[in-house]
Amino acid sequence: MRKRNQAAAAMAAAAMLVLAFGSGCQKKYEQIELSNAGSGIEEDEGVGRGAFDGRQAGSSFGQEIDLAEQETEGHAQTSIKEQNMVGQPAPVFKDVDETIYVSGDSVNLRASASTDSQVVAVFKKGEKLRRTGYGEEWSRVQYNGMTCYIASRYVSAAALEPDAGNSQATSQGKPESGEDKVVAFNSSWKYGEFSKINSGMAKLYKAEEGSRKGITVCVNAGHGTSGGSSVKTLCHPDGTPKVTGGTTGAGATSAVAVSGGMTFSDGMAEAKVTLAMAKKLKERLLAAGYDVLMIRESDDVQLDNVARTVIANNCADCHIALHWDSTDNNKGAFYMSVPNVSSYRNMEPVKSNWEKHNALGESLVAGLKSVGVKIFSNGSMEMDLTQTSFSTVPSIDIELGDKASDHSDAALDTLAAGLLAGINQYFGQ
Ligand SMILES: [Zn+2]
Repeated sequence: MRKRNQAAAAMAAAAMLVLAFGSGCQKKYEQIELSNAGSGIEEDEGVGRGAFDGRQAGSSFGQEIDLAEQETEGHAQTSIKEQNMVGQPAPVFKDVDETIYVSGDSVNLRASASTDSQVVAVFKKGEKLRRTGYGEEWSRVQYNGMTCYIASRYVSAAALEPDAGNSQATSQGKPESGEDKVVAFNSSWKYGEFSKINSGMAKLYKAEEGSRKGITVCVNAGHGTSGGSSVKTLCHPDGTPKVTGGTTGAGATSAVAVSGGMTFSDGMAEAKVTLAMAKKLKERLLAAGYDVLMIRESDDVQLDNVARTVIANNCADCHIALHWDSTDNNKGAFYMSVPNVSSYRNMEPVKSNWEKHNALGESLVAGLKSVGVKIFSNGSMEMDLTQTSFSTVPSIDIELGDKASDHSDAALDTLAAGLLAGINQYFGQ
């Protein structure tokens, strides 16, 4: 089930530290170590991604990225705004395209070519970046899709001695359970270009060393992306229209990037419940020896459905999105199966993966059934989803009930037990 070296191409995106998490995941991770409390970089609503994607690389003269700290739900988030720089000479850079290595112990990556500007991240010795512009004082680099700056004297175009850096890439035999590894979206990953909202970060949790299975489960708490319903992404990578209805009707070629989700009959927002469910499932998975990739751990993550899927594709062995349906008759749980429509099942990456998606869904429903969860009909409903359309690992949207379903703590515990049983079944554990 697990794939090796799938992300080799992604390693070229050297704006991030590339780490291999040993046997815990066969894939390579792009990890960003942030030095401060800022857990992500969020754009002002309405600004749009365009200003921060790769196109910015060569055109940042006369502009300064202004980072303004704002407090959101208890943790600092960084908001970025582009401003015209007035009255200051633009730094001169020679255009280059090369990998550089940090040669200092702890080197600031800054929003603009000035020591007065905001520190975006701190890089450790041996970490690499892609340099797009060389200047005597400053180097212009790409970092997580943004143009940033680092002091030229603290970087080198040559790789350092093997033992000089990346010491944190190995666990040194110590368990790293619970240690969060930030996983950033990488636009060079396959299908990455279809994402519109991707400045948020996922987190990888590793199980205790002694019990680790070496299987990473992506737990995706459905919904919870502020502004997600005012942005649209393509339904299919080949631009063809949706073959079933759903939140977006059949025939549409684009759909909301992340919908808001429904509201339970008792007034509770679906996104709150999916988050609580995700946290419970995470704990059970970790205890059972699975590594867990959490897409969302607070009320908001700036990752659209394409970004969530692409991150799971590259950093996990399966992808489970948690949802409750918008009916209100307590009909029971089911999974969204891959529609039996030949054009859809013949489109990549659906063609190569749809049987795995459905098999994972069947396992999850069997697991839920085994702990007494009510199951809707035969346990599945055909649905053409963005998630399915871009997934290259076994991937399922599981609807754990609907608006009228019990979503008490005890009910979520039962559901978590059922999902774990299903995951065990799928992976033969
Ligand atoms: Zn939902």
